[in-house]
Amino acid sequence: MATGDELTAALRESVDRPYTFMHICGTHEAAIARTGLRSVLPEGLRIVMGPGCPVCITPQGEIDAALEFVDKDCIVATYGDLLRVPGTRGSLESSGGDVRVVQGIHKAVEIAEKTDKEVVFISVGFETTVPTVAATLMGRPPENFSILSCHRLVPPAMQWLLEQGEASLDGFMLPGHVCVVAGYEEYEQFPVPQVVAGFEAEDILLGLLMLVKQVQEGRCEVENAYPRAVCREGNRKAKEIMYGVFEPSDVEWRGFPVIPASGLRLKPEYECYDAQKKFDIEIQHVEKTRGCICDRVLRGVAQPTDCALFGKVCTPRTPVGPCMVSHEGACKIWNLYHVRH
Ligand code: SF4
Repeated sequence: MATGDELTAALRESVDRPYTFMHICGTHEAAIARTGLRSVLPEGLRIVMGPGCPVCITPQGEIDAALEFVDKDCIVATYGDLLRVPGTRGSLESSGGDVRVVQGIHKAVEIAEKTDKEVVFISVGFETTVPTVAATLMGRPPENFSILSCHRLVPPAMQWLLEQGEASLDGFMLPGHVCVVAGYEEYEQFPVPQVVAGFEAEDILLGLLMLVKQVQEGRCEVENAYPRAVCREGNRKAKEIMYGVFEPSDVEWRGFPVIPASGLRLKPEYECYDAQKKFDIEIQHVEKTRGCICDRVLRGVAQPTDCALFGKVCTPRTPVGPCMVSHEGACKIWNLYHVRH
């Protein structure tokens, strides 16, 4: 692979007009911010973050539902990043209930095996994490265990972004982690330049260079700049497990309306693990928090520093929105690496 300096020089030679590309991955944003990559990009080449953080795109209504499980005296288990995301009446951390941080669903099942209480796992994540959740449910955990499925699929959100045209994008850098599992066949339906990229600075620079070339040559394809980890079909076994347990459903994303077939609900044969059904809880639509522009950041039409609250009222200690809570959230990342654009 060419060095970072060579790729940067090639990009500088190639960029002949303004370009805006979107990545859909918090890990890409963290790598870009940590390496200061934006500072070496040629003028006119912009890379914006889309809805690539699974915690950030979880709408407030789902956080409120998680709080309802606390009210019903359940043990609520989830990832640490979700703990401090504010719902309309506080966060899981401030709920005063029995809320436990776990590394994954298997740890939540272990809790259920050692108690008679109901245990609800708040299950967030894109295609990357779903197969593990599905495989665990196939193993038939105890009856006092259930999940709130907050899973989302990336392609339907991309389709929505393309249909809206709000962010004036020239192309997408596809999420390497998601594509390891899902492959990239499904993205071939989109008439826009796309490149799957890895997470080293060189991977990202190569991805950007390939995107610029596609635009210049008038091509709209999915190219793979991360062949050491990703193939077109993805992990067939993992997808089989995933769709053996879940089926697509229409769900809202934070910052987006309800996007058809962009969520995952449990299939009828696994409904006994559906916490929403078990406890008769409806997910409500909640209007966004005043002043927070997470919704616009997640759609790529604003950046964290456009928010009047950034670094002042809203900090990692006092987060107003989820993008300042999650390690994959743009605001938290920009705050950590002092990104100012
Ligand atoms: Fe929301 Fe805080 Fe980010 Fe502003 S800085 S968009 S309030 S998370």
